[in-house]
Amino acid sequence: MARFSEIYAQAKKPVLSVEVFPPKTPRGWANLYHELYYLTRHKPGFVSVTYGAGGSTRNQTLELMYEIRTRFHVESVPHFTCVGATPESIREYIDRAIALGAQNIVALRGDPPRGEEEFKPAPGGCRYAYQLVRFIRDYTDALDIAVAGYPEGHVETRDLATSIQHLKLKVDQGANLVITQLFYDNEDFFRFRDMAVKAGIHVPIVPGLLPIIKYSQIARITQLCGAKMPQPLINRLIVYPDGSPEQHQAGIEYAIEQARELLENGVPGLHIFTLNNSHATSRIVEELGSYFDLGET
Ligand SMILES: Cc1cc2nc3c(=O)[nH]c(=O)nc-3n(C[C@H](O)[C@H](O)[C@H](O)COP(=O)(O)OP(=O)(O)OC[C@H]3O[C@@H](n4cnc5c(N)ncnc54)[C@H](O)[C@@H]3O)c2cc1C
Repeated sequence: MARFSEIYAQAKKPVLSVEVFPPKTPRGWANLYHELYYLTRHKPGFVSVTYGAGGSTRNQTLELMYEIRTRFHVESVPHFTCVGATPESIREYIDRAIALGAQNIVALRGDPPRGEEEFKPAPGGCRYAYQLVRFIRDYTDALDIAVAGYPEGHVETRDLATSIQHLKLKVDQGANLVITQLFYDNEDFFRFRDMAVKAGIHVPIVPGLLPIIKYSQIARITQLCGAKMPQPLINRLIVYPDGSPEQHQAGIEYAIEQARELLENGVPGLHIFTLNNSHATSRIVEELGSYFDLGET
């Protein structure tokens, strides 16, 4: 169990990390523990646990973070957002996270509630993630901090150079790691990484990957977060019925190709958005395991 800065500094090869979310039903929890058994067999550097939109999973995020580290003996990392977060509630969350063993946190702004255009901070709270990073840094040095980066620019700031300036603010306030939003064209990531390094961002920049399991589901997600799906990829998927095993297979093949190219081009790790399903991650590790800094699998 370690901090982000140690995990990436000590790794001899790229680090695999995975993301899960707290399920909404008892069946979802049982299924997640089953999937975590397989995910953690790949010895990821860490498992991160999302924080529900609107702060809806506040307690479950920390509970799941705790269960993962105690049941599976792997570093687990809670996400946190500024949504509805007053200074008191931020301190309370950090105190609980540390008491439950957290050594890292993913600090985000979060999205405005559905139907609202503009993000409104809670009274005395943070308008932007860089302010949350500053707040955490001023409050404790017990946590390393990861922040979000956007290879295609953030939906509210499509100009990439400006988006990178905003990322730099977060790193300057003390972030130790950047994990990117999902993307399907590696050229977007390489351009973003070059620009970030030129802008003076020298912490590890880890690409986030969302393997496609069902085209219609991913099309919805990409529309929400403003990531594009290249036409050749769409063409490869839509020849099969939506959600069919053949489409699933084509999506995983694309993820393996995408991951291979990233790993051959100097990324410090890969962060896989698993959607609480281990299959795509296991296939990537089966194909590309030798690229990663993994324990015994
Ligand atoms: C790896 C990853 C994990 C995520 N996990 C979660 C999660 O668990 N829960 C969840 O709800 N959401 C999550 N998100 C989504 C995230 O909350 C949204 O993308 C959100 O819209 C932006 O969050 P941020 O932390 O990047 O915000 P910020 O960095 O604050 O950026 C928000 C917007 O403000 C702009 N901006 C920043 N600073 C300034 C400034 N000084 N002046 C003017 N504009 C500025 C930025 O360019 C951007 O457009 C995740 C995203 C990623 C990539």
